[in-house]
Amino acid sequence: MEEPKLDLSIVIPVFNEESNLEPLHREIESVLSGQGLTYEILAVDDGSTDGSFETLQKIQKTEPHLRIIRFRRNFGQTAALSAGFKHARGRVIVPMDADGQNDPADIPRLLKKLQEGYDIVSGWRKERKDNPVTRTLPSRIANWLIGRITGVRLHDYGCTLKAYRAESLKPIRLYGEMHRFIPALARWGGEKVAEVVVNHRPRRHGKTKYGLNRIFKVLLDLITIKFLASFSTKPIYVFGGLGMVCLLGSIVSGAVVLYMKLALQYSMNRNPLLIVSLILMTTAVQFVLMGLLAEILVRTYHESQDRPTYVIERILEPAESAGEDKG
Ligand code: UDP
Ligand code: MG
Repeated sequence: MEEPKLDLSIVIPVFNEESNLEPLHREIESVLSGQGLTYEILAVDDGSTDGSFETLQKIQKTEPHLRIIRFRRNFGQTAALSAGFKHARGRVIVPMDADGQNDPADIPRLLKKLQEGYDIVSGWRKERKDNPVTRTLPSRIANWLIGRITGVRLHDYGCTLKAYRAESLKPIRLYGEMHRFIPALARWGGEKVAEVVVNHRPRRHGKTKYGLNRIFKVLLDLITIKFLASFSTKPIYVFGGLGMVCLLGSIVSGAVVLYMKLALQYSMNRNPLLIVSLILMTTAVQFVLMGLLAEILVRTYHESQDRPTYVIERILEPAESAGEDKG
């Protein structure tokens, strides 16, 4: 990330949003010009094939706040947001959709909440203007599930409109479609997360870039998040634990086979439990080995990048704290 110099960066991922850009830009300008903030608008053109890039360039001619990043091809919304976060110069970063569904008028409220001492303020589209069956319902289930599993209970993970302190995004690397999990990822580092109800509007022009296959991606991402959040520094606990369960099953079923053979004279080679026992034994060994491999990977990851396995808020040295007492 570059050195923060401005108060605010608005980050907008753009993929084929040609007709939405000018109205959105006008709205943002009219909201922000009255705020007395230094800011930039960072549009990330995610390989648009319509005239989005040309439209952005046209706006830039008369707009000193607009910076444009153009991708060579379509890399996806998460990648676009990542690039925006990386190049943003604001101390606070606010991402929003390019299609006009998020309302720029909510930005001051998000910022105000952030000033109350939060690191992340997440928008909650309480009244969504999307298809109820294919969008709103799956999203409700997903939000509930994500809340249960990550322990960060938000009503609306999927809302792009959020406000972040730039530092809280620094340690987070985004892969796949992980942008909706940022609050959950950030909590690992102890960030404080709040929620504010925001306005939601129907898409102005163009059509949505997502279909129902998003559901599977969210589920898989969720497994990854859970794993990373709970066990990324001790994978042997997960894999070894599963291995232990399999080993136990193997021993029990092996014992039953022996008992049937010795006490009941039941032939071993006709007993399916023998096979169960062998398969469980093999699986147990595999799980433990996988756990050990994962342990090596985790060590490589943390040690090669000198990444600590904790986050320190601050360190108080004796002289400093004594000085503070006097003052
Ligand atoms: N978007 C993007 N790259 C993609 C897909 C989407 O940059 O590959 C942008 C899109 O231009 C919009 C935002 O991500 O600004 C949200 O997309 P969309 O409105 O299609 O999602 P929905 O609101 O339907 O969830
Ligand atoms: Mg949209």
